[in-house]
Amino acid sequence: MSHKKVEILVVGSGPTGLGAATRLQQHGHPDWLLLDSAESAGGLACTDKTPEGFLFDMGGHVIFSHYQYFDELIDSAVGTGEENWNTLERVSYVRLKNRWIAYPFQNNISALDTDDQEKCLTGLVEAKVQNALTKDKPTSFDEWILRVMGVGIADLFMRPYNFKVWGVPTTHMQAEWLGERVATVDVTKAISNVLHKKEDAGWGPNAVFRFPKEGGTGGIWKAVADLLPAENTQYGSGNEVIHIDPEKKVVTLKNGSTIQFAKLMTTVPLDLTLRMLGGPKCTEWADGLTHSSAHIIGLGVRGVNPHGMKCWLYFPEDDCPYYRATVFSHYAEENAPSEFTTLPTLCLANGEDPSSNNARPGPYFSLMFEVCESAMKPVKQDPVRLGGTAGVWPQVVLDTIKGAISTNLIEADAEIVSVYHRRLEHGYPTPSLGRDAVLKEALPYLRSKNIWSRGRFGSYKYEVANQDHSCMLGVEAVDNMLFGSMEITLNQPNIVNAKKNIDLLYK
Ligand SMILES: Cc1cc2nc3c(=O)[nH]c(=O)nc-3n(C[C@H](O)[C@H](O)[C@H](O)COP(=O)(O)OP(=O)(O)OC[C@H]3O[C@@H](n4cnc5c(N)ncnc54)[C@H](O)[C@@H]3O)c2cc1C
Repeated sequence: MSHKKVEILVVGSGPTGLGAATRLQQHGHPDWLLLDSAESAGGLACTDKTPEGFLFDMGGHVIFSHYQYFDELIDSAVGTGEENWNTLERVSYVRLKNRWIAYPFQNNISALDTDDQEKCLTGLVEAKVQNALTKDKPTSFDEWILRVMGVGIADLFMRPYNFKVWGVPTTHMQAEWLGERVATVDVTKAISNVLHKKEDAGWGPNAVFRFPKEGGTGGIWKAVADLLPAENTQYGSGNEVIHIDPEKKVVTLKNGSTIQFAKLMTTVPLDLTLRMLGGPKCTEWADGLTHSSAHIIGLGVRGVNPHGMKCWLYFPEDDCPYYRATVFSHYAEENAPSEFTTLPTLCLANGEDPSSNNARPGPYFSLMFEVCESAMKPVKQDPVRLGGTAGVWPQVVLDTIKGAISTNLIEADAEIVSVYHRRLEHGYPTPSLGRDAVLKEALPYLRSKNIWSRGRFGSYKYEVANQDHSCMLGVEAVDNMLFGSMEITLNQPNIVNAKKNIDLLYK
């Protein structure tokens, strides 16, 4: 069994690990290694391709960058301009009571029926009055929703939708993480929009976003990984870290080899790292962190995309298992096979067998769905047959197809030509009520052992868990290791999220 020694070991080649490795290379550090148990780089920001040629990201990935460093890095890796990127306008709706309500919901109450308009507006006004009288901060996400949006919007949209996303009630979540993430309400504007029957969809971040022309979101991270020297990277299942000895500073890999490090930057989910370290304190911290799992379901469908410019759609009701669907073929031509590709119909959406010898050309469009799984929100995964030659899939795939029919995303006789499913054990790090108390103790403890645990699940802060944040968590961790500089993304999420950060540059 091999035994290596390295000054800085980076575990995980998702955006965080790649950010760290990029920074080490940028500083000309002579002795570092990046390893990942996956076959290639990307982590949760990877893209899979079905045998029929449809691409699927791991859920809707939209780039909204807060950092110039991040922009410069991905432009250097992928290239710039229209040749390499599509620019898309966010067109996003909430599906409710068989209507499409433009997003953000709270600014588009005018699209509801009169009874619901009344509940929402009354709630908004009451909340505004209540909020003016209350000085203390909301202690849960639920309290925040009631204070900002009132009980009408809470019951109609925010509570049911957020349960579908997080798999826990909003009363189990804290309010600190919110920052810019949820559109707050201008009550006067909300009333005016209702009276003037106005649609108001232009809110906040990512009103316009860019998407790579080729390779999906994963293509970005493969290109970033390609900028690194091959001799500094190790991929493949044998590289799974299965044990960390914080005293001897040695990690053991699944293939039996060991690596001694002076400093370890790990993007492995913090709950798993703490369990690897073991001991009562680490186990207690691990138990105090909550995450939900994500099922990504993709459908390739024959026909012209019937959803026009729609990008992604939210589903708070229980007529479908998913909380969000993305019209993924709309993001890039390459996300679906060309119309000249001949594909057989695997099954019809209603489960009926298609006629035999039905292989013919497109056009095609694709839909990508996200379903949350948690202890409080289990997902049916028993194997079921879909019909035709589509084969056997977990029950959630069948439920998703049925939901797509009942929410008007596809026709009952739609011809399904490709099916995709992947379950991500760690999908969303829950901003639970106890999260910050754990992070305040666990991260400094690890730091005292020369372990920087960073990333979407490495540091567990959803408010800084997008691709841009993750990448910069890695970059800033390396600067902290080498020069002791402050890790602003980790420690000041509200500051980094409130502006474009231009202090660090890649070029
Ligand atoms: C459903 C969903 C929707 C999202 N939407 C968006 C969005 O709209 N916009 C956006 O910017 N971002 C989005 N993201 C977030 C984006 O995917 C993350 O920012 C990013 O992937 C996190 O990067 P990371 O490097 O911290 O972790 P990960 O991507 O999880 O990477 C961790 C890496 O570590 C490896 N690893 C884990 N354990 C071990 C081990 N024991 N040994 C060796 N290797 C190991 C894994 O194989 C993986 O490659 C979304 C994520 C999800 C899941």
